[in-house]
Amino acid sequence: MDCIFCKITKKEIPSSAVLENDSLIAVKDINPQAPVHILIIPKKHYSTLLECKDKGLFGDMLSMANEIAKKLGVEKKGFRVTVNTNNEGGQTVFHLHMHLLAGRPLSGIMG
Ligand code: AMP
Ligand code: ZN
Repeated sequence: MDCIFCKITKKEIPSSAVLENDSLIAVKDINPQAPVHILIIPKKHYSTLLECKDKGLFGDMLSMANEIAKKLGVEKKGFRVTVNTNNEGGQTVFHLHMHLLAGRPLSGIMG
């Protein structure tokens, strides 16, 4: 399948990973919208949030967001996690992922 995030998870294209475990990889967004902009990407392909029924994976994604926020020292000032879903949700890459944004005041829905 020609999916850019599958290629990232399989290390077929370069990315800057900040954390990785058996089911997830977290990488820096190539077009950051904030000083800290990380993508938490499941290694298994789900095209959107709607396709994934794995509640454990949802928990693991949020848990990794906590870990990254602490690792990068943004937990006290604050951060935001977002899962854009389908077109009006702003999704452009159809492989489930969570954004972690921090490092500047985020206002409105996406800042
Ligand atoms: P979304 O609009 O929620 O689907 O988010 C997709 C995100 O993936 C965007 O913020 C892009 O900047 C980011 N992105 C696309 N290609 C890459 C890549 N090769 N490496 C890192 N981030 C990427
Ligand atoms: Zn994929």
